Formats: sequence, C-alpha cells, structure tokens
Amino acid sequence: MRIAFLGLGAIGTPMAVHVARQHELTVWNRTGAKATAFAAAHSCRVAATPREAAAGADVVITCLPTSGDVAGLLDGPDGLLAGMGRGGLFLDCTSGDPETTRKIGARLAPLGIDFADAPVSGGTNGAEAGTLTVMVGGTDAQFQRARPVLECFGRRVEHMGPLGAGHAMKAVNNILLAVNLFAVGEGLAALAKSGISARKAVEVLNASSGRSFVSETLVPERVLSRLWPVTFRLALLDKDARIAAGFLDAQGVAGPVLHLTSALLGQARAALGEDADYLAPIQLIEREAGVELRG
Ligand code: NDP
Repeated sequence: MRIAFLGLGAIGTPMAVHVARQHELTVWNRTGAKATAFAAAHSCRVAATPREAAAGADVVITCLPTSGDVAGLLDGPDGLLAGMGRGGLFLDCTSGDPETTRKIGARLAPLGIDFADAPVSGGTNGAEAGTLTVMVGGTDAQFQRARPVLECFGRRVEHMGPLGAGHAMKAVNNILLAVNLFAVGEGLAALAKSGISARKAVEVLNASSGRSFVSETLVPERVLSRLWPVTFRLALLDKDARIAAGFLDAQGVAGPVLHLTSALLGQARAALGEDADYLAPIQLIEREAGVELRG
C-alpha cells in the first residue's frame, strides 16, 4: 500500500519505521530536515508539503501534538485536502480531542474520505517494538479498513466506538497515568523522608496492592536510576489531561480527583516548561520535600 506519514516526532518516528518496513512510504515533517534524514535512513520518499505527501497515497497517517495541529494541515494549496482523493483513508494517531476530531470528520465525509482517530499507548519503547495499543474511533467499516495498517505498529488494535471514541479512551488513560505519577511521587517522598529506602519501598509496593505502571516500570527505570530520559513531553500529558477533564464535563461526571490532577499538571508545566519530560513533576515533589528517590 502507498502510505503517507506526517509528524516525525518522538513517537511518530518509530511508528513510521514500522510502516516503512511493510509499505511504500512517503514522509512529511514540519521541520523538513527530519523528514530528509528519515527518508535517507529508511529508503522512503520525502514530500515537500502535506499535499505532495497525500497525493497518490491510499492511506494518510498523522501523529501531531494536537487535533488543532491536524486541522491546520488540511487547507490551502499545499494542504492535505489538495492532495487526498475520494476513497482515501485518513488515520489520525495524534492523542487528540473528540470534538475537533468530529468536526474534521464532518468536513471529510462529503469528500469521500474515511477518517478515524487512532491514538496510541505504549510509549516510545512500545513504538520501537511495534507493540503499541491503538484505540480506534470510527465506523465498523472504517475500523476494518484501518486495522491492518495500524497493526504495523500496534499489537492490540481496538475499536472503541464512533469517531472521537479513541481520543476519549486515550485521554482517560493518560489522566489516570498522571494521577499515579503524582500519587506515587508523593507517597514515596514521604517514605524516603522518614528514612525508608526508596528502592525497598518501591519493591514492597510492587508486591502489594498499591502498585501501578508508574511504580512497576517508570519509577525503577527513570527515577531510582536518576536517568530521567525525555520521551514524552509533560506539555503533551497536560494537553491529554485537559481533554480528559473536558470529556468528563461533557459526560456530566464531576470528577474532582481528575480535575485536580489536570490543574496540578498545568502548574507543573508552567514551572518546568514545554520541553520537560512527563516524569519531571516527581522532581518537583522531591525538591519540595527535600529528598531524592535514589536506589
Ligand atoms: P513531539 O513533540 O516529539 O513531536 C511533534 C511532531 O509534530 C513533530 O514532528 C513536529 O514537527 C510536529 N508538529 C508540531 N506542531 C506542528 C504543527 N502545528 N504542524 C505540523 N507539524 C507539527 O510529539 P510526540 O511525537 O511525542 O507526540 C505526538 C502525539 O503522540 C501527541 O499527540 C502525543 O500526545 C502522542 N503520544 C506520544 C507518546 C510519547 O511517548 N512521546 C506516547 C503516546 C502518544 P517538528 O519536527 O517541526 O517540531
């Protein structure tokens, strides 16, 4: 299949590598040098504009920060819509928002373009391994069309419901990750300050009922090790939490814990900046408590 991939960021790049291995790929990136380097390394075509990427493609995949960024690529003489033909399939792997996505879908349907949201979970490691979870929103027919493409990088590809349902699922997943991040950071800071070894506390937690992905994987690999890699920007997690809070509001669910978590993420983003990693709020907790979670 001829596939166009737009957005070679931290997660888009390893996803596109899997696509390149199985399909005829064209890449486009806002900063063109990244696309040129990618195309040289993975023997694929590079497009100068979104229109050029989409022209002749059976499938267009986007992986950008927000749904607003995706909408921003549609129009104009160099936009995606100038290149996409009737019958095309457009898969948005951005962790986007359901409302903007439904608006995009309403524009694309009369043009005969199948549009589905397909955000991913599993981090850059999961993208490199091709083991992402993909949460799809769209019709049954769109899902059936999308599944084999998404299986290039996804191990579990699930149809969540109509357009926007994938984004809703992803936003709730990520705000739950954020709840755990703050909660584990706070609990461990208190234990470490009381004199308990942070390593032992994490080991015991992971053999007990308070464990989570944060305590089992993220804290040992990134915090106790003091490695603090930057793989997923805090700004993007903050964006996800805002989407989740808006989704709760839209459903009439009060959600005090999730709204507080979203507010805390906003504060952490303001304090740490746009390039900080999503684990950096634990550094803030450490600083405020006057302890380091080493081990
Ligand atoms: P990055 O910030 O690493 O990369 C963003 C990409 O989008 C870059 O290619 C950037 O281009 C491009 N871009 C940014 N703004 C625009 C714009 N206005 N128009 C066109 N292109 C633009 O993000 P990630 O790759 O980490 O994340 C992408 C999406 O995937 C986000 O929605 C994120 O929430 C989600 N995600 C990320 C995960 C991760 O572990 N990183 C995990 C799961 C989901 P340029 O190179 O020019 O800056």
